[in-house]
Amino acid sequence: MSKRQEPSDSPEPLSLRLRILAYNLWWTWNPEAQAVFRELSPLVWHRSNHNAVAVLREVSEAELQSRLRDPDFRKRVKIAVEEFEAYLRNKRTWAVKHAKKLKGPVAYLSAEFGIHESIRLYSGGLGVLSGDHTKSASDLGIPFIGIGLFYRQGYFVQRIDAAGWQEESYPRQDPENLPLELVTLPEGGRLLNSVEIGHSIVYFQTWRLNVGRAVIYLLDTELPENDQHFQGLTATVYGGNIDTRIGQEIVLGIGGVRMLRSLGINPAVYHMNEGHSAFLVLELLREELTKGTTIDTAVKSVRQRCVFTTHTPVPAGHDRFSAELMGHSLGKFWSATGRPFDELMSWGRVNGRDQNEPFTMTVLALRMSRGANAVSKLHGQVSREMWHMLYPDRSVSNVPIGEITNGVHTPGWANQRAHEFWNKRLGYDWTNKLMDAAFWKRIERDGLATDEELWGLRYTLRRGLVEFVRRRLCEQYGRGAEEAMGSFGSMLSPDALTICFARRFATYKRAPLIFRHLEQIIPVLTNPDRPVQIVFSGKAHPRDTEGKKFIQTIVELTHHPQLHGRVVFLQNYDMNVARHLVSGADVWLNTPRRPLEASGTSGMKVLIHGGLNLSILDGWWREGYNGRNGWAIGDDETPADVEAQDEADFQNLLKVLSTQVVPEFYERDDHGIPRSWIRRIRNSMRTLIPAFSTDRMVAEYVSRYYVPSSGVRVLT
Ligand SMILES: *Cc1c(COP(=O)(O)O)cnc(C)c1O
Repeated sequence: MSKRQEPSDSPEPLSLRLRILAYNLWWTWNPEAQAVFRELSPLVWHRSNHNAVAVLREVSEAELQSRLRDPDFRKRVKIAVEEFEAYLRNKRTWAVKHAKKLKGPVAYLSAEFGIHESIRLYSGGLGVLSGDHTKSASDLGIPFIGIGLFYRQGYFVQRIDAAGWQEESYPRQDPENLPLELVTLPEGGRLLNSVEIGHSIVYFQTWRLNVGRAVIYLLDTELPENDQHFQGLTATVYGGNIDTRIGQEIVLGIGGVRMLRSLGINPAVYHMNEGHSAFLVLELLREELTKGTTIDTAVKSVRQRCVFTTHTPVPAGHDRFSAELMGHSLGKFWSATGRPFDELMSWGRVNGRDQNEPFTMTVLALRMSRGANAVSKLHGQVSREMWHMLYPDRSVSNVPIGEITNGVHTPGWANQRAHEFWNKRLGYDWTNKLMDAAFWKRIERDGLATDEELWGLRYTLRRGLVEFVRRRLCEQYGRGAEEAMGSFGSMLSPDALTICFARRFATYKRAPLIFRHLEQIIPVLTNPDRPVQIVFSGKAHPRDTEGKKFIQTIVELTHHPQLHGRVVFLQNYDMNVARHLVSGADVWLNTPRRPLEASGTSGMKVLIHGGLNLSILDGWWREGYNGRNGWAIGDDETPADVEAQDEADFQNLLKVLSTQVVPEFYERDDHGIPRSWIRRIRNSMRTLIPAFSTDRMVAEYVSRYYVPSSGVRVLT
């Protein structure tokens, strides 16, 4: 599709077309459309965390009509709306050519969807990946249906108290204020489905979220039909106790299939994104068994339709339920099949006959899928070793878990300035060429963007971040802007090498690693000729006391006399904060304890902005790093002892930072340009953008997993 299409004459009034656009999250990866909503009400746009529906609810029809009479504004609205309509109409998508063998929609089930900061249905990378997967599926034209839960309270909002301790609050999200449409029946009234949880019937309604050409259905138990207790079942992301967890997973997996059936949808493939949705196979089995199909045929038929992606490289990270909880929650449901419950339990056990073994969702998903994959090459190796015990007759390398490395939806992560910069130089349709490696070779051609222009872009984006940080700190500490600007106005420097570290504060990600020996790192950061500043952000899981201590450690260091003003912590990490950080960062730091970072994706978001990665060779970076497109911390080895690993990784980080990263950033020619640094940026963009895009990732899922006859490592 080309981005500038012929205008079409739509009979609908422009104001109505704009309202329709607000209800399709396509606008979240189109900066011109965002600018229109922002201009309509800058205050509501800001207060609502960039929510187009909230803006249009604020603006009366009279106001909208009047403002559309301004020819300049009208023209911009028209361009955005026409581009959107052309996108939906486009019949020449990648899928038309490359996904012919896909005979029906893909149903993609995920506990989290991170589509945009204004819709809080995600906790971290897994959710953002689901959102980016959906956006690329839409861009590629793949028939795609996401299924998730509507969390009225989402994941928590983070505040840090005076002692540096994380506080959580759970503000409600009003569906009226979100681009959600309640799914209704043709004859009127809302679509109502139910699942059995124990002896209770739990009803749920369904909300529709439009994401370009794709759709996400969100299941919601907050209904007067339900007991008080079940009304709150889907309230928060990973909230509550183990009963909440299994209940949510029953709604997602079993409810997800029932919801599809009630809409008459029979997907060609079910994709379980992580094990949370694996109960869906039980519903598919129940469907077969209650038709009278034999168990062997039923299992075969279910496996033909399911694929599974695992994301967790540690055994403890996988959902496990005791036999008692399973029997209690699913016994009644399963009795309809007439099959023994022990048989169901055996599918979730490594040793099917071991009555004491709990039920593992990943084991169920692996057993009942036609294909399974990990999310990077190293994670593939780790997963094959971890699940070897399920396939004792095979060698580790033949364990049927393949790998598809994650990516990011680059147009959704590129900030407005980056869009403008590349539109001008690569043409408006660069967003359609994300996986075209030959296209990205152009970045290494001088004429396309000169070193001077690239350095100008870096300055623009770095200043954008510095000012965002100053504004945020003012809001964070709730003082009068003027008074606060006195102290916050000098925070960070637009000239200094800017490192960002932002992600969930899971302890294996080791946020404070860079401060392991303060006396060694402080001189590197505070050299007056070569200053270095670091921006941190991230949430710890509410029950993760160690992760909260990591936050506290860093918040305390922001007050350290030598670090004050150059180390900052931004509260409430979300996709908006992420977008500012990934655009402003010169260097994106990642220090996971190898091999626990299954893939990691945040480092991929910096690429289009000319940011560079400095990371442990874990997850995606182990296959992305080539020696010239960023920096590695340490080598391709993993010390056995955790203490030794932390120390070695710190020393390696210190060394590469002080001897390579900092000198290269500050090595300027007569024009003030860091030539080698910019050479590294060009190499990073050329080699990494096409490889780590969700367009490439989704294309791989289509050709290797979604199409039944494709060469997946079939589980037998
Ligand atoms: C991209 C992203 C993540 C994932 O970051 P990793 O470094 O891959 O863990 C988490 N949270 C948000 C808000 C993100 O945008």
